[in-house]
Amino acid sequence: MGELERRRIEVGGVVQGVGFRPFIYNLAKRHGLSGFVLNDGKGALMEAQGAGAVLDLFVKAVRGEAPQLAKISFLHFSKIAPVENENIFRIAESLPSVAETTMVSPDTDVCDDCLAEMLNPADRRFLYPFINCTNCGPRYTIVRQTPYDRPYTSMSGFDMCPECRAEYEDPSNRRFHAQPNACQKCGPSLELLDARWTTVRGDPINKTVEFLNGGAIVAIKGVGGYHLACDALNVNAVRLLRERKVRKEKPFALMVRDLEAARGYFEISRAEEELLLSREKPIVLLKGKIELRGIAPGLVEHGLFLPNTPLQHLLFACGAPRVLVMTSGNISDEPIVFEDEGLKERLSDVADYFLTNNRPIVWRCDDSVVRVANGATAVVRRSRGFVPSAIQSGFSFPEILACGGDLKNVFCLAKGSLAIPGPHIGDLWNAEAFRSFKASIEHFKNVFRIEPKNVAVDMHPGYFSSNHGRSLGLPVTEVQHHHAHVASVMAENGLVGSVIGVALDGTGYGPDGTIWGGEVLICSYDSFKRAGHLPKIRIAGGDKSAKEPWRIGAAVLRHVFGDSALDLNYAGNIGVKKMEAVFSAISANVNCHDSTSAGRWFDAVSSILYVCQHNGFEGQAPMMLEAMADKVETGEFDFEIGSDGAVSFDETVRSLVVMAENGGDFGKISAMFHNTVARVVLRLCEKARAETGLKEVCLGGGVFQNQLLLSRTLRNLNDAGFKAFLPQNLPINDGCLSFGQAVIAAKTRRP
Ligand code: ZN
Ligand code: ZN
Ligand code: FE
Repeated sequence: MGELERRRIEVGGVVQGVGFRPFIYNLAKRHGLSGFVLNDGKGALMEAQGAGAVLDLFVKAVRGEAPQLAKISFLHFSKIAPVENENIFRIAESLPSVAETTMVSPDTDVCDDCLAEMLNPADRRFLYPFINCTNCGPRYTIVRQTPYDRPYTSMSGFDMCPECRAEYEDPSNRRFHAQPNACQKCGPSLELLDARWTTVRGDPINKTVEFLNGGAIVAIKGVGGYHLACDALNVNAVRLLRERKVRKEKPFALMVRDLEAARGYFEISRAEEELLLSREKPIVLLKGKIELRGIAPGLVEHGLFLPNTPLQHLLFACGAPRVLVMTSGNISDEPIVFEDEGLKERLSDVADYFLTNNRPIVWRCDDSVVRVANGATAVVRRSRGFVPSAIQSGFSFPEILACGGDLKNVFCLAKGSLAIPGPHIGDLWNAEAFRSFKASIEHFKNVFRIEPKNVAVDMHPGYFSSNHGRSLGLPVTEVQHHHAHVASVMAENGLVGSVIGVALDGTGYGPDGTIWGGEVLICSYDSFKRAGHLPKIRIAGGDKSAKEPWRIGAAVLRHVFGDSALDLNYAGNIGVKKMEAVFSAISANVNCHDSTSAGRWFDAVSSILYVCQHNGFEGQAPMMLEAMADKVETGEFDFEIGSDGAVSFDETVRSLVVMAENGGDFGKISAMFHNTVARVVLRLCEKARAETGLKEVCLGGGVFQNQLLLSRTLRNLNDAGFKAFLPQNLPINDGCLSFGQAVIAAKTRRP
């Protein structure tokens, strides 16, 4: 034995609620060390005593053998004076609130060990739907405050029975200090209610399965909120759900028992398989093999996820329909319902039954959505399973709150090396979403001990998110929408200096007071310059125009053909009167705005090709236009680019309309328009390169969720010697804005 040494070791990152202390305890025992480990405000703190060489091995193993869910962001150690007569290693009491940041683990899918126990008739948790351990179960959604200990979670109301307590206190047990630990005897339990709010007799799971098979709609409490479930193969049940949910066309997410069941209905690549099975269990967008009626009308992709709570596994094990609709429990555009209080009022017009339980959800967290695009994972919505993990960027942040945008809102809190995006909040014009936005920010400040001293907001004068940020009495950085899109991609890819940024988007407020959204920018973190943009169109009808693509179609045709547009077949189809009303509003400049939005251009073409005249959900018309495009067509339309980088689509529209009016192949026309936009992006990038010498191009904006457009754009850029960058862990849509804002504010704020 070498000389006795003692080391103080601090570990930060995601180390609470992931079985880290029992891991350390067992590791210390294996190495014959004495000392202690505890949770503090920064992460885990330990002191270990033994021979120097053994301590070296111990420290190495802390890093190398850490539990599955742990993410170590730093490990510091220092030598301290040995303690005499210490011969055990123990787990000590947590130290509450130290003024530093601590991380909480995201909620995780049930682990294989727990699943096996749950399905084993000899196990004491046989069929228990709240089974969990230090490797799995709810986390973020049950935490009221940190440190992550049972009294600070929504499990505080459940007293552990002697058996559970023994597991909880036994360092060699898989449930040692598993805060949500529970069993049938002492933990949460299910209750099935009918629409009159009376308890349904019998086993809640078997009864739920019976009702689902009978075509009923059941609201099922999950980890971050309620889902609405029904048999996806029962056309009547699906239609009923659409009617009651006031959701005419927006796709429904589906859930099947396992991968094998999924293969019956979907084309699944190796990469998609990995995403379906990943610990985060996101909804994965997949190509359907067969038409499932009423699920995703007119679209190619379906959202599918696999069971991720013990309860969902049990429903399938007990005979639930092969394919379940599992859509967010809400009406229309409201955020997902997560509170039991008010549940009846909110959902009793939609659901026939409610499968609920008495473990409160503290924080709402929607399902995440991902897809495989160009061979890589593209995050569409980053929420359950990912939140609240930090985005790595190598940046150093002041204590900052970035408010994001008003659509698909995600806020972001940052401090030091950490930037922590919040959950998907939704569209803030909805009062409940706005309430959730403000409450979740407070929660994050509290949990991560970040007290913002700076605020970053979108420069839009009317955004709820921006006005909230401006009202806080802190120094405000106003960030241009597309600058934020590009900066987010730059930071996620570790780029410095200047880049060419391409933002193809729905809408974003431009510094000239018009609506931008088809932009090529020369960007650095602290400034940007517009280098080119899609054609500017005057649009009438205010908010209605985004919902009704024909209004954009009419505006575009008027711009190109003047009043003779009224002679087109299109006008006859839409209604000459309606067209004239739009024309005169534009002539008189009543309720009009100018827009270069790429989203609106896709709306216009979708309308001109009669694909979609009403956006039932954001992006529907462009998505349907993409779905019908002939994917092998390589033709393009002509266009012009002015010396200032302003594009003209006059020629594009003329040729497109001639083809359409003469009964051309609409799949071909759609593809040619996609190809044209991809060519425009290339030309504008070439122009920017000629002026600046820059070769790096960052792509952002929700319109790039169009797979055909993205793949053509990437191919064009690569062929021309550009290096194109996409988001890594954040969505390409407005879900990335707050991170981009935080990055820009960190670089531009005055000290
Ligand atoms: Zn487990
Ligand atoms: Zn128990
Ligand atoms: Fe945007």
